[in-house]
Amino acid sequence: MANLGIPHNTLEILQKYDFKIKKKYGQNFLVDGNVLEKVVDAARITGEDCVLEIGPGIGSMTQYLAERAGRVVAVEIDHNLIPILNETLSGYHNVKVQNGDILKTDIHRIAEEENGGNPLKVVANLPYYITTPIILGLLESHAPVESIVVMVQKEVADRMRTGPGTKQYGALSLAVQYYAKPEIVAIVPPGCFIPRPDVESAVVRLTGYREPPVKVKDEKRLFALIRAAFNQRRKTLANALNNAAGLGISREQAEKALECLGLPSNVRGEALTLEQFAALANQLPVSVRSDI
Ligand code: SAM
Repeated sequence: MANLGIPHNTLEILQKYDFKIKKKYGQNFLVDGNVLEKVVDAARITGEDCVLEIGPGIGSMTQYLAERAGRVVAVEIDHNLIPILNETLSGYHNVKVQNGDILKTDIHRIAEEENGGNPLKVVANLPYYITTPIILGLLESHAPVESIVVMVQKEVADRMRTGPGTKQYGALSLAVQYYAKPEIVAIVPPGCFIPRPDVESAVVRLTGYREPPVKVKDEKRLFALIRAAFNQRRKTLANALNNAAGLGISREQAEKALECLGLPSNVRGEALTLEQFAALANQLPVSVRSDI
């Protein structure tokens, strides 16, 4: 099968199937062989690995993954791509394509059925419209995943890595840094995709921690606080927590807890480190519902 990592071959297969690119599914196909190599290198895949690919598209990255991995399971939402994948991946017997929505896919089950319950490596050129729910879903559900290497918008990659005091710092930064070490391994210009996205992209590697870098009594409580803090990031943290439905914290309680931690009572959430959020979560009497 022709290498899809060059524009001519990608255009040819799209024309052959009269495939109409769907913006609503975030379809930007990678057409640069060097970038595809870089992504697969960053994932450090060996013949022992079972890879979960999110959104294989026409199968360009899947081909590179299948060359190195023991097994590849690729979940694609667009059923119109399935006949194309059947052709482009016909030479690989270690690939299974599943038609479905990754946000509704049981990843524990894939690990169980395809990898004897062992953790998967996730590799993807992510659909940009749902990058955050996919990443947070993988991390917060404690899916059996040992590493995640994904192409995302450069701006999202920056949000994952940044700390307090920057405009990009937020709930995504804290959630990612609680579970994993984020690294940008490549910056990718729009010209490497068909169609071209409006912005630069970046390849990010997230290596999961065995133990989170901070200790909390209750993770749900920590993330409820973080969400409340950044839902109203212009407000002081005490006011944001006081206003957050379901948290059951008064402004006075929040101010007192901040004072105990040596923080000013009018501090904003965006100034707190992960360690400080964890200390606050351990200190506050929060009644946390799982749906907030
Ligand atoms: N991997 C291909 C590549 O690099 O050329 C395609 C990447 S494209 C940015 C994103 C792919 O994710 C598309 O094929 C799109 O149809 C698929 N997709 C979008 N939403 C999805 C979802 N919820 N579940 C699974 N796949 C999805």
